[in-house]
Amino acid sequence: MAKRGISILKGIEATEVVNLLNKAYCDEWLAYYQYFVEAKVIKGIMKDAAVAELIQHAADELRHAEMVADRILQLGGTPILHPNEWTKNSNCDYEAPEDPSVLSVLEQAIKGEQCAISVYSSLADITRDKDIVTYDIVSQILADEVEHEEDLQALYDDIGDFIVEIKKNIN
Ligand code: FE
Ligand code: FE
Ligand code: MG
Repeated sequence: MAKRGISILKGIEATEVVNLLNKAYCDEWLAYYQYFVEAKVIKGIMKDAAVAELIQHAADELRHAEMVADRILQLGGTPILHPNEWTKNSNCDYEAPEDPSVLSVLEQAIKGEQCAISVYSSLADITRDKDIVTYDIVSQILADEVEHEEDLQALYDDIGDFIVEIKKNIN
């Protein structure tokens, strides 16, 4: 454990930060898997545009898991070791894509991003001025999650508009 790196924490214990980061770590693995499997099962109109976005987001969530794991280790903690612990310790619910239709998958994914934004926004509030390195990492991840929500919402709106157009042309 790197002592000087931990000694710069001000008014917060490393163990407290590790516990919070481990919960976010579980969220990231679940988000990764949710995107991975959604990209496989998704069906319907403008599916290809959605698949491209889902695959890109899966890669981002895996990268977030890595960033969080590295910070946990720097703080003298251990990333959660068993996948059984992921759903037990996560902040956000895992939503299985039981309905594989494009709009329903996108709706679920948007909800997931909104939860992630709340989690990282709160982690930024907790670590600001107390653990600058974690603050920097969670701020970077927060910016990605905000982008994810925007990408998915824009796609959802485009597909919704497209469906309205098609219906108009049929009538
Ligand atoms: Fe993420
Ligand atoms: Fe995300
Ligand atoms: Mg994107």
